Amino acid sequence: AKRRGRNRVEAFNDELRQRTVEVKRLSDEILRGLERQEFRPFFQPQFDAETLEIVGVEALARWEHPTRGFIMPDTFLPVAESLNVVAQIDEAILDQALFQIVRWQGQGLDVSRVSVNVSCQRLRDENLVAKLKAMAIRPGMLTFELLESISFDTADEGLKQAIEEIKALGIDIEIDDFGSGHASIVSLLELSPKRLKIDRRLVQPLLESTAQQDLVRSIIDIGKMRDIEIVAEGVETMAHAELLRRLGCHILQGYALARPMPADDVLAFATARTWL
Ligand code: C2E
Ligand code: CA
Ligand code: CA
Ligand code: CA
Repeated sequence: AKRRGRNRVEAFNDELRQRTVEVKRLSDEILRGLERQEFRPFFQPQFDAETLEIVGVEALARWEHPTRGFIMPDTFLPVAESLNVVAQIDEAILDQALFQIVRWQGQGLDVSRVSVNVSCQRLRDENLVAKLKAMAIRPGMLTFELLESISFDTADEGLKQAIEEIKALGIDIEIDDFGSGHASIVSLLELSPKRLKIDRRLVQPLLESTAQQDLVRSIIDIGKMRDIEIVAEGVETMAHAELLRRLGCHILQGYALARPMPADDVLAFATARTWL
């Protein structure tokens, strides 16, 4: 029994070592990937709930690894976080997203707005506001999606001020994953965001639960009072889309309408209008 115990300990140590080696390799590869610009945005269209016209796109980071193919954020973000390079990834995605909007325009596609996900780390970057200022961004063209958990930090005056400066530049603030955590709704409302995006965990059970519908309806009501647009994510069926429209939700995003896609596919998608 003693011997078996030791084998188990050795097996555990082996596994731990392997995992450590794997994280180490991933870390090295992320840093190299940043240098080689392997982080690219995919774009997921967002739709007006009433007309189902495309009103914007969300840029979602993908890591185009030279041998392992496309790697998803859930795999690389935690490691990037521990390396303190999430802000660099955010920056790379923002630059490419703005470049794309101009490029689409040249192709005759008017994507009026792009949303990018912005980490707390990036918001704390002292050069961020200066850099954004230099970019001369058309008001309303760019949205920063901030995770709901940001409200735990808004006691931090520096962060609050950064958000105000960003708004003053004509960049919209959207609260992402709204309703997923335990953030204070009041402190979120005090940021006066342009939009709230209801988390998919609130959206998906909508058809089965009238209590859930009441909750979403009440979020939409608060939005009306405060002049905040409501976005729903994780819209996976047209029944969800129709119900959300009836509840008064403004903007829809989800697999039922469009998946995230490479920039080059957006033009063909928007032209074919197959979702209608
Ligand atoms: P998120 O911001 O909540 O983005 C929505 C996620 O849901 C995306 O996953 C998207 O592909 C997925 N999704 C879209 N429609 C549906 C649907 O109908 N059903 C379901 N089940 N999922 C749907 P993705 O691309 O894997 O991104 C995961 C998360 O990684 C994002 O969640 C965001 O928090 C983070 N992320 C992505 N790109 C960036 C980035 O450039 N910077 C930062 N800081 N975070 C990013
Ligand atoms: Ca988002
Ligand atoms: Ca979200
Ligand atoms: Ca999320």
